[in-house]
Amino acid sequence: MIGVFGHPEAANLAYLGLYALQHRGQESAGIVSTDGAQLFAVREMGHVNDIFTADRLKHLPGFAAVGHVRYSTAGESTIQNAQPIAVNYAGGSVAVGHNGNLVNAIELRERLEAEGAIFASSSDTEVIVHLIARSRELTLPDRIADALRQVRGAYSLIFLSEGMVIAVRDPMGFRPLALGKSKDKGTWVASSETCAFELLEAEFVRDVEPGEMVIIDKTGAHSFRPFASQPAHRCVFEWVYFARPDSTIDGRSVYRARERMGRRLAIEHPVPADVVVPVPDSGVAAAIGYARESGIPYDQGLMRSHYMGRTFIEPSQQIRHFGVKLKLSPVREVLAGKRVVVVDDSIVRGTTSRKIVGMIRSAGAREVHMRISSPPTVGPCRYGIDTPTREELIASDHTAEEIRKYVGADSLGYLSLDGLFASVKGANEEAKNGFCDACFSNNQPINIQQPARLRQLRLVSA
Ligand code: AMP
Repeated sequence: MIGVFGHPEAANLAYLGLYALQHRGQESAGIVSTDGAQLFAVREMGHVNDIFTADRLKHLPGFAAVGHVRYSTAGESTIQNAQPIAVNYAGGSVAVGHNGNLVNAIELRERLEAEGAIFASSSDTEVIVHLIARSRELTLPDRIADALRQVRGAYSLIFLSEGMVIAVRDPMGFRPLALGKSKDKGTWVASSETCAFELLEAEFVRDVEPGEMVIIDKTGAHSFRPFASQPAHRCVFEWVYFARPDSTIDGRSVYRARERMGRRLAIEHPVPADVVVPVPDSGVAAAIGYARESGIPYDQGLMRSHYMGRTFIEPSQQIRHFGVKLKLSPVREVLAGKRVVVVDDSIVRGTTSRKIVGMIRSAGAREVHMRISSPPTVGPCRYGIDTPTREELIASDHTAEEIRKYVGADSLGYLSLDGLFASVKGANEEAKNGFCDACFSNNQPINIQQPARLRQLRLVSA
């Protein structure tokens, strides 16, 4: 998700930003721009590169834009659910991109439908624009604040109207959101991750704080606190897997944190071995840390093909991970006859890890020791990360020993939760709260009555 304000080619910048954010969603992408009089929108299924041709970008004029890449955590993977959503309401036009997941969307939607509202999509985000349209407040920022006081859950949002970009982070700060600014033209940028700033030649200014609304218009960027403050619950899984390693979160490097996770893993789960091999790309930084700490040489024993196109079946839940790992192939030269430590960031269903261990063995490895740079994934995420249901999470009802047997490794070691937090916070910082670790601990920061996964909302218009 990216917002740009104050550049004659705002949509082109949003496009470059979405390139850098493609890892956050591969199902659909969209950009909405404004020239001050109206909004222009392009939304399609597929990857950024395929959707935004030069011709399409020409149809997105103006000085401000918002862009979004989506993978579904609520609602289906369809064009109706592609974002940013753009609507007209009594006060003008507004577009919005949403990163996160609302936990009371069904409840709110049923109430709105009972009052006569009709919905065009099955995404939880559409509830927000309905609440904005119905608000009695006069200005857009006040309408947004009014709407968001009624929703619960995880939301980092970037709004675009004819005159402003508004970036909002929910009071618990589940999903990240950062502000940047280009030096030369004074263009403001809001982005889910700082890795997008590099391509846009923008400099990181600061993170949008949990509970903060930043309004960017031609007079500059202005900060507001429209919500009652709540304890922060930043997503720890961003650090483990989701964010790109060249991003910083809360001013700290994701890459260095992952390297520290690998170092801790080597201390917590040492093993005599000949080579440390990462599962590319998710295990690379932690494997480097493991190798540095243990003194065991690091090598690339698995190759990833970056040129395989997207298989059209990828968004389907059952085979998502399988599709990803079809891209791997073993390097016999590195693995044959060796005692191999293979490092990855997490085990979800276990199916991919099992394939990888099998692949390493069939390349002639003598022993395979699997090391995971996070604790067992025991609970599904209700706050914006796409994880399967509890039943499908292998660690929800299997011990580490049972998982070891299933994946076929000689040994298996997970990083402890304390080790994970020590790695994220850096060595010298005191342990403190402020994170959501529900996927590793089952401690839910929000009391939710709804089922773990939002049931499929009814599609009103096709
Ligand atoms: P598996 O062994 O099938 O559980 O797959 C583990 C792999 O899935 C690891 O390489 C992780 O990096 C990756 N993974 C973890 N969480 C996700 C997610 N939310 N979406 C896609 N891949 C993920």
